Order: sequence, then C-alpha cells, then structure tokens
Amino acid sequence: MKAIRPLPDLLISQIAAGEVVERPASVLKELLENALDAGAGRIDVQLEEGGVRLLRVTDDGSGIPADELPLALARHATSKIASLDDLEQVASYGFRGEALASIAAVARLTLTSRQTGATRAWRLRGDGGGSAEPAALAAGTVVEVADLYWSTPARRKFLKSEATEYGHCDEVFRRMALGRPDVAFSIAHNGSIKRRLAAVDFAGRAAALLGADFFPHARPLDVAAGPLRLHGLAALPAYSRSGRDEQFFFVNGRFVRDKLLTHAVRQAYDDILHGARHPAYVLFLALDPAGVDVNVHPAKTEVRFRDSRGIHQFVFHALQRTLATPLGAPPAPAAPGESAGGPVNPGMSAASAAAASGASPTPPTWRQSAFAAAEPRPAAYYDFVRAAVGTPDTAGVAGTQGNASPAEEGNAPFLGYALAQLHGIYVLAQNAAGLVLVDMHAAHERILYERLKTAVDAGPPPAQTLLVPLLLQASDKELAAAAEHADTLGQLGFEMAPAGPRELAVRAVPALLAGGHIAELVRSLLAELAEQPASRVIEAHRNELLATMACHGAVRAHRQLTVPEMNALLRQMEDTERADQCNHGRPTWRQLSLAELDRLFLRGQ
Ligand code: ADP
Ligand code: MG
Repeated sequence: MKAIRPLPDLLISQIAAGEVVERPASVLKELLENALDAGAGRIDVQLEEGGVRLLRVTDDGSGIPADELPLALARHATSKIASLDDLEQVASYGFRGEALASIAAVARLTLTSRQTGATRAWRLRGDGGGSAEPAALAAGTVVEVADLYWSTPARRKFLKSEATEYGHCDEVFRRMALGRPDVAFSIAHNGSIKRRLAAVDFAGRAAALLGADFFPHARPLDVAAGPLRLHGLAALPAYSRSGRDEQFFFVNGRFVRDKLLTHAVRQAYDDILHGARHPAYVLFLALDPAGVDVNVHPAKTEVRFRDSRGIHQFVFHALQRTLATPLGAPPAPAAPGESAGGPVNPGMSAASAAAASGASPTPPTWRQSAFAAAEPRPAAYYDFVRAAVGTPDTAGVAGTQGNASPAEEGNAPFLGYALAQLHGIYVLAQNAAGLVLVDMHAAHERILYERLKTAVDAGPPPAQTLLVPLLLQASDKELAAAAEHADTLGQLGFEMAPAGPRELAVRAVPALLAGGHIAELVRSLLAELAEQPASRVIEAHRNELLATMACHGAVRAHRQLTVPEMNALLRQMEDTERADQCNHGRPTWRQLSLAELDRLFLRGQ
C-alpha cells in the first residue's frame, strides 16, 4: 500500500466532473441554470459538433464582478447559499458551487462577464493561468466551453455520435425552456438556428415545444390543497407515446426524474392507458421548499420529499380527476377542501421564498397559471388550439379542451350528430371541427364500465329478472364457481343456481347488461371467478370483473343502430367519465378536422 496523501485540487475537480459533467448536455444544463439564476431574460446557446467541440451560452443576466471571476471558477464557491438554513430553503437552481470548477477541469473554459452597472467586461480563462483581461461585452455573461474532455481522453471515448450528443442537448434545452416560458431562448448547432423561442406564457411555450397533436388532446389542470399545488397540462390517452420523451415534471421549477412522481402519474393513467404506451404531460408541483430535499445527487434531477406518501396521493388524485372529467365538462373539479386556480399561498411559493431570502429568482411557477380552471383562457390559447387542430372555427374547437363557456361552444354537442354507421363498426358524426369517428363497441363498453362502477359503489346494481330463466350447459368448474362465489355474483346483480347436474339457470342479470349476450357474459364471468380464491373477490378484482361484464354487455360490431340510437350513444359518451378510452386503453373516438380532410384531398395547395 502506498502512503495516504491529499489529492491535488485539479484531480479532485476531475473526479467530481465525473458526476456533474457526464456529457455536453450536462454542461449545457449547468450553464443554463447559472444564466437563469442570474436573472437572465434571454439566453442564446451555440453548439459545434454536438457540443463537444464548442458549447457557448450567452445571457443578459446580472453578470459577475471582475474580482469575483476567479471565485466563480473555484470549487465550492457560490453566491447562492451561505448557511444550512439557506440550503433548506434553496430557491435557486445552483447551490453546490462546483459546476464551473468541474467543467474547467475537463474542458477549455472561458468566462466573460460584465456586472450590471460596471464600466467594462472582463474575461478569465479557466485553466488557472493568467489573470482577468478586459473584454468587449455589453451586458451579462458568456461562458465558452471548448474541447470537452480534451484532458481526459478516456472519458471522451464514452461520448456518442455528434447527432446523439446534440439530441441530448436539445432535450435539456427543451426542459429548461418549458420550465421558464418567461425567458427568451435560442439554440444553434453548427451555425444554423434550431429553435428560437420568444418569451410567452406557458400555453405558448408548450405549444412551441411539444408535438403538434399534444394540444388538442391536453387537459389543463390546476389543483391546490394546503401548501401543495399541481398545475400544467396532461394529454388524454389518445395522444399517448411509445417513449417517455414528452414527460416533464417540475418540482418548484426544477425538472426532476423522480420514481415516486412517475409512479403517481402512471397510476392516474392506469385505468385508461394501454400498458405499453406512455403518457405525455408537463406538470408543475409547487410546495414549501423545506418539504423537499434537492441535494440528493450532484446533477439535482432527483429529489426527496419529506411527506412522500402525501405527495403521491395528492398528485395521483389531482391527475386522476382531471383525466376522468367528462368531455363536455370543465376540467379538474376541485375536491372539498381544495381550491382550483390562483397562487396557493404566496408565503409558500418558491418564488416568494426566493424573493424573501434575496436569492436568485426561482421560476415563478405560480405565475404560469394560464390554465387555472377558474380563469378564462387567454386569446392566444385559442389561437394555439386552432393552429394545432387546424380549423378556422375556434368556437367548435374550444370544446376540445372541455373548458369552453356555453357561449363559445354554442349549443352544438361536443361530438356532434350522427350521420351514418360504417360497416357496422364505426359511427360517423359531424361536429363543429369536422368528422368524428366512433368505435361503437369500444365506446359503449366504456360507458357501461363507468356506469357499472358507479352502480356497484352504491350497492348491488339494479337487476333485471329474466322472463324465462336462461338455461346454460355448464361444466363442473363453472357450477362450482357459481356456488362458491354466489355472494359476489349477488353483489354484481346476478342470480343463478344449478338446474341439474350439468346445467345452470340464470334468473337475473344487471339491468344495464340485459341487452347484451348473456350466455357469453355469464361464462366469462364464471371463468374469471374460478381463478380467484373465494374470499373478498369483489374488493380485489372488482374492476376486472366489471370490465369483463362491460365488454360482453356492450353492443357487438355488426349490429345495425338507428340514427337516434347513435345520437344517444354520442350523448352518453359526452356524459361519461374517461369516455375517450375503452377499458383496454384503446381510443373510443377520433376527430378528423376539416383541415386534415382538406390535406387528404390536397385542397388549397
Ligand atoms: P453554483 O451555481 O452552484 O453556485 P457554479 O459553479 O455553477 O456554482 O457557479 C459559481 C458561481 O459563479 C455562481 O454562484 C455565480 O455567482 C457565478 N456565476 C456562474 N455563472 C454565472 C452567470 N451566467 N451569470 C452570473 N453569475 C454566474
Ligand atoms: Mg451553477
């Protein structure tokens, strides 16, 4: 064994860089956070070769005094916190004071800055050689990072292709830009501008950064309970994704990837989203900074909550209610004891905590309330919806978000009026936006499922006694299941008894399902019950049983419906929670806008 000795400073920073500076995107994240902490109103990013060759971030923030430039580059030197109390209330992105030092240890870093009010700008190289020199810069700060990992070639080998590294940089850029719509951003790669974002409200920023179809399917929410507030946009499952690329969760303005939050969100989508699909959302959770520890990992994308159970419940319920809101109703009704819209409690908001502590401003999440349920939508919002849906008629489209006032919506029903039935499978309807296509079986199944849930919650659903009992050939297994689970069957609205050694007599079925295929329904239900232990089946498997019942009770394909029947189906869909998805997570209806139809026929091109 060799003797123990302290590590040289440069080596310490190179080791620390392993955690903070994983790739160009992580450098970009640190530099963007510093610019935002400095109160920048506009930030420009220039990259060369995926950010490996060059990464330059220019901001118009408060700048750094000339005599503090060396400190900015020193390890564990920060202007953002001074005590443990500050750390517990931290409202700035940075606080560890190690990003610039780590980056300077593995790349050629140059810092140029002009403090607000100073007569000139100064530049300092990050290699420790030389002192600050006068430089030309009107205001703010420019950080240039060239030749990432030039000094640690082993790390450089882990970098991926230029396109991949640029992709990661763009992802970081989108996150930061989504979190701060009040700041203007641009990003250029190899000399060409990739994104240019003006300062706007949250609606505008989301429209600029998320997929074109996100908006028409997004539900706004804004729910507050005590010191907690959750707001933002969550897409209905019709706009689900094959990957997690459109999942943005911010905690007190900071983008995080957190297992607990991801789980709460996923659970809220459970009943409506197919297991292989991923939801899309941009959500902001605001809480007292003392209730969350952000100092869990050097990159600060993980957090720890003091009351993790409470947070999980809150996020789950707020989101689940939003997603369950019927198509025609206003979104996210607040539960008793909760208020929707408006700042929660300014004393608790991260932004005011920042103001009070004199720290750099945290993203003013409470200002991003363009979608507060109680507030009318800004005109710009309708423009975005109109652009996204591609229809010239706002009135008809506004309802897509389920938040239009009756005046805006006119009296036309959201899903319009039935025109015809296609091949016995689809209902075609006309609404203000264009053509509506409904999968009649899937839609009816969802309606029945939701009704059954409500009915069973209130006691056994009303049963309909069959005029003539239905006699079924039954296996021993089926007869045994019927006897063993007689209680459960009763609670579900069924009445049946053996009528012979191999025969079952069904005397009553839930009235909601009386029009369906009863023999099939009973057989599937018994097959499912036979798999369960007798005790407490109804609690544990209620929803699965009800889903089976709904599936067999729903109108089959190839049944001819009359126009009044089809219209009745459309009206029931409008009144039903989660009507957008069948119980298997498939969509129940689709909108084809006039603009989409025009494109199909190349009209106006
Ligand atoms: P931290 O952000 O955790 O404080 P950094 O190493 O990222 O640590 O930055 C060190 C210090 O340099 C910051 O505390 C801040 O005072 C200053 N600084 C860095 N970037 C900027 C910038 N773009 N504008 C103004 N000051 C900056
Ligand atoms: Mg920093």
